[in-house]
Amino acid sequence: MSSLFGNFFANWDRYRKSIEDPGYRDYENMWAMAIDLGSCIGCNACSTACYAENNLATVGEDRFLARQSMGWMRVERYWDEPSLGASDPDSQERGGSFLPMMCQQCNAAPCEPVCPVGATYNNEGGLNAQIYNRCIGSRYCANNCPYRVRYFNFYSYDKDAWPAPLNRQLNPDISVRDKGVMEKCTFCIQRIRAAKDDAAREGRALRDGDVTTACQQTCPTQAIVFGDLQDPESRVRKAWDAHQVRLGTTEQKKTNPALRGYRVFEELNTESCVIYLERVRDTDV
Ligand code: SF4
Ligand code: SF4
Repeated sequence: MSSLFGNFFANWDRYRKSIEDPGYRDYENMWAMAIDLGSCIGCNACSTACYAENNLATVGEDRFLARQSMGWMRVERYWDEPSLGASDPDSQERGGSFLPMMCQQCNAAPCEPVCPVGATYNNEGGLNAQIYNRCIGSRYCANNCPYRVRYFNFYSYDKDAWPAPLNRQLNPDISVRDKGVMEKCTFCIQRIRAAKDDAAREGRALRDGDVTTACQQTCPTQAIVFGDLQDPESRVRKAWDAHQVRLGTTEQKKTNPALRGYRVFEELNTESCVIYLERVRDTDV
């Protein structure tokens, strides 16, 4: 019980700190992403890979339409011409664009302080972690997430999502979640742990590229870059720096406004760890 309250107050304490306060960012790593919307073709390979890697349950069409999908990563579609839709074969040329959306691993995560049992918290890698065994299914976190990227097990999807022999493709490195538990993207934390263990066994520090998320690994256009922002030589840090996006601000002060990097809902001070590089076209639409 004491650790429960300890977690809760640690969450709240961190949530209330600003960038200038000492100890705000005392993490070992700061895992982050950069996603180039100019490269994304909306193929959904990333979200499919996420299903396979993280034991995500398929819920069937009816539950999907009832908004009970368990896909941690959704590829959002936007049309510059409102009358256009996915059925238009020329949609992409005429203004369709895509945005892969998953947990943004906020450092001031609105989902954390509202959890009555401290089941979600910021870990030492700057990740928003979820303790499945502690979750009581209140769903306050999902209601307070501005990105709508938390998914609730309304039913025991795990009982029939993988009929034999499909159950053999489940990833043994992570659990399968049952009814009443909230879940969301973890930046493939099992891969981060495995890479850290490998580095420790070899007596060396973690190197850039040691950890590849499933979505990044699968993306055919290499639109996704993942790594540690604390490492000044990492590809992701270089992408953030090149686009003059930094943590600890609700508004980027770019010297070159043509740079494409931005964070979604930055003005809400969620301190998210994902930047998107705006898609640029050489036509009016
Ligand atoms: S994106 Fe939503 S679920 Fe993820 S850390 Fe931020 S508030 Fe929490
Ligand atoms: S796999 Fe890559 S190109 Fe395909 S939807 Fe995902 S980010 Fe976009």
